[in-house]
Amino acid sequence: MSDESIAVPEVLPPPEKHVGTGGAVAGPVPWIDTSGAIGGVFKGIRSLFSGMKVTVGYLMRPSTVVTQEYPENRETLKLPDRFRAQLAFNHDANGYHKCTMCRICEEACPNVSIIITGREKPAVSKKELDSFVWRLDSCTFCNTCVMVCPFGVLRFDGTFESSVYDRRLLSYTLNQYAGPVASVLEKIEDPDARKAAMDPRDPYGGHAVIEALIEKQKAKKIAEKAAREAARVARLAKKAAAAAAPAGEAEDAG
Ligand code: SF4
Ligand code: SF4
Repeated sequence: MSDESIAVPEVLPPPEKHVGTGGAVAGPVPWIDTSGAIGGVFKGIRSLFSGMKVTVGYLMRPSTVVTQEYPENRETLKLPDRFRAQLAFNHDANGYHKCTMCRICEEACPNVSIIITGREKPAVSKKELDSFVWRLDSCTFCNTCVMVCPFGVLRFDGTFESSVYDRRLLSYTLNQYAGPVASVLEKIEDPDARKAAMDPRDPYGGHAVIEALIEKQKAKKIAEKAAREAARVARLAKKAAAAAAPAGEAEDAG
C-alpha cells in the first residue's frame, strides 16, 4: 500500500473549557434541542396534537379499541383456544378419568410440577390413582405433559384467574376422585359399589399431598441414618470383640 492511499486525519482544535463547570470539557449535549426555545415549544405542541389525534380517533370510533376492558368484560371475554392457563383432567360424563398412573407425564415434566401418588390399599384394581398434583407456581406451561400422555387425560384450559394469598393453594389435585380408571369402574354394575370405590379429592389439597411426601422422605432419611449408625456400632463391637479374644486366649494359656 502506498503512502498516498492513507487518509491523514484532520487535526481537530483543542476542546474549549466550559466556564463554571470546574473546567469540564464543553460539547453538544445530545438530548437538549439547541435549535432555540421557541422551536422547542412548537415541537412539543406538535407532538401533543399528534398524540391527541390518536386518542380522539378512538373516542370517535370506540369499536376499533383493541385494548381489553378486564374485568368488566369477564362474561364476554374470548380467549384463544390454545391459551394455556390451567392444567386440567379430562373426566367423562360420569366423572370418571382414564389416568393409569403410568407416570410418563411426571417424568417428562422439566420442572417437577407434577407429583403422582397411588393408593396404598386399592379398592378394586391393583393400581389406583390417589392424587395427581399439579403445581401452577412452578409450571412453565410448556404443554409437554399434555402431549406425552398416551390416554389423553390432560388438557390446558383458559381458567386464568388463579390469584391466591397463600402460595400453597397453587398446588392443585386434578383428579376429582381417588380410585380406579373409567374402564374398571364401568364394569362394576352396582352404583353403590362404584361410588364406594371412589374417594372424592379436594382440588386445593395438593399442598397436603406434597407435605405428606416431604414428611415421609424425612422419616425415611432418619430411619436410614439410624440403620447406618446401628450398623457402625455393631461393626465396632465386633472389632472390639475380635481384638479382646486373643488376649483372653493368651491368659488362659499362661
Ligand atoms: S406444562 Fe410443562 S412444566 Fe407444566 S406441568 Fe406440564 S410438563 Fe410440567
Ligand atoms: S396423566 Fe397420562 S401420562 Fe400422566 S400418569 Fe396419567 S395416564 Fe400417565
